[in-house]
Amino acid sequence: MDLGIAGRTAIVCAASKGLGRACAEALAAEGVHIILNARDASALRQAADDMARQHGVSVTPVAADLATPEGRQALQDSCAAPDILVNNAGGPPPGSYRSWTPQDWEQAVATNMLAPVALISAYADGMAERGFGRIVNITSSVVRHPIDAQGLSAAARSGLHGFVATIVRGLAGRNVTVNNLLPGPFATDRLLSNFSFRANREGKSLDEVVAARKAELPAGRFGDPAELGRLCAFLCSSHAGYISGQSILLDGAAHPQAL
Ligand code: NAP
Repeated sequence: MDLGIAGRTAIVCAASKGLGRACAEALAAEGVHIILNARDASALRQAADDMARQHGVSVTPVAADLATPEGRQALQDSCAAPDILVNNAGGPPPGSYRSWTPQDWEQAVATNMLAPVALISAYADGMAERGFGRIVNITSSVVRHPIDAQGLSAAARSGLHGFVATIVRGLAGRNVTVNNLLPGPFATDRLLSNFSFRANREGKSLDEVVAARKAELPAGRFGDPAELGRLCAFLCSSHAGYISGQSILLDGAAHPQAL
């Protein structure tokens, strides 16, 4: 299917690897020009060069920490009028509410709530004026199905979901959509680092924890980031203008929904 977005421009946040990169790859494969963001400049440059070579689109790296106002300004300076915005960032560390400090809370809220809220606020009205906009937020299945050690993540991301729910009706008539993707376990570095935390806590090896987790999953496997990337690209397509305000769980039926 031709997604009808060749030649458009997308900002893809936190995308030198993992789920963000998979979204950028899927959009670039559709002929979308990419503003690619992450903090580490050299890994980002490598990812941008590889993507541009593979897909024949322009890929502009912007090394910036989106948890800071300066980082977000750098992104806005590099692209004033994107057609597509994919919000993403590193997730907060797992742990316990008994030990999180006010600074831990501030960092989680800055990274996983205020950063996407600020970028949506900066870009949504321009998209509406131009009559096309697609915004996708990568959040987490923990918003819908809490995991005890993921309180920082669940709380900060729930704030973002709440914000999104209040803006979609004002944008739908201008062909601007906003949707949330809620990944369950996907095979990325982030997942492995969460499993290392669990292995340490439970006194097991990483391999044991990974095998046990896969065995618990109905699909018997972790998600492939490319699967999430392609759904993101579809939500950003010209065909998806009637899908907005949705929170889509991608977890291989790990948490079946009531009908
Ligand atoms: P990942 O493989 O660790 O990749 C994270 C990417 O984000 C990297 O490119 C990283 O590059 C960049 N990044 C991190 N913090 C940033 C910041 N403040 N500003 C700009 N770039 C930043 O992680 P992932 O698994 O793709 O996860 C992506 C998001 O989905 C996270 O929020 C994670 O919690 C969430 N999630 C993941 C899973 C899963 O199973 N993988 C499940 C649920 C939710 P730099 O370090 O160079 O900045």
